[in-house]
Amino acid sequence: MITFPIVLSAPSGAGKTTIYKRLMAERSDIGYSVSCTTRAPRDGEVNGTDYHFLSPDEFERRRVAGEFAECAQVHDRAYGTLRSEVQRVLSGGRHVIMDIDVQGAAQFARAFPQSVLIFIIPPSIDVLVERLTRRASESRDGLLTRLRNAQMELHEIGRYHYVVENDDLDRAVSRVSAIIDAEMTRRERAPMLDEQVAGLIARLETEITNYA
Ligand code: ADP
Ligand code: 5GP
Repeated sequence: MITFPIVLSAPSGAGKTTIYKRLMAERSDIGYSVSCTTRAPRDGEVNGTDYHFLSPDEFERRRVAGEFAECAQVHDRAYGTLRSEVQRVLSGGRHVIMDIDVQGAAQFARAFPQSVLIFIIPPSIDVLVERLTRRASESRDGLLTRLRNAQMELHEIGRYHYVVENDDLDRAVSRVSAIIDAEMTRRERAPMLDEQVAGLIARLETEITNYA
């Protein structure tokens, strides 16, 4: 199967986590790359499933050892994608989906140029603030940092191949799913396409000779 990395970025609260979890529940051809972070786990988050929660020293040791395909400081904490996670999912024959910020997405796309970059946009800032406050995962300061960061992230939207608005969740999930399907049929991704087409053309030559 043709597989590739799928990068989802969005302002915090726009719905990336909700969308990738739904996609993974609906499709067996997608696996998640569990990132590393130095932030503390939120209620209900499981080490090794939602993130690998690392101390700053351990994160730095792995960074220096070259274990990250990309890493960045986001909202004052370190986050990074392990090369081993990406390879684990791809070598298992599945697309690898990642939830990474705009700085990390740019680094990752240089390391894996076959990646599909999708930006999830909220329907409005009122909705974004409402979702962030309803999630109740942040202090007032944390919320302010995320809103400031959202401005910076929106400025980088030009780096992305696709933009999906997350208004109605079902519609957003089915759009991301449709993008993945369409990307699988991209000419540039087809393995051995030249040989396949050359074979078809040669076969046509024989057929034309027979009919002529
Ligand atoms: P992100 O991962 O981008 O920070 P989340 O996936 O955690 O965002 O979503 C933030 C909050 O918004 C969560 O409480 C989630 O349940 C809610 N949410 C996500 N998408 C929608 C949607 N389409 N409609 C309503 N609520 C949503
Ligand atoms: P949260 O702490 O809310 O889970 O994520 C905060 C931000 O960190 C989000 O913008 C998310 O996309 C980003 N993020 C999560 N994992 C990674 C990662 O591995 N690398 C980078 N660069 N950003 C990440």
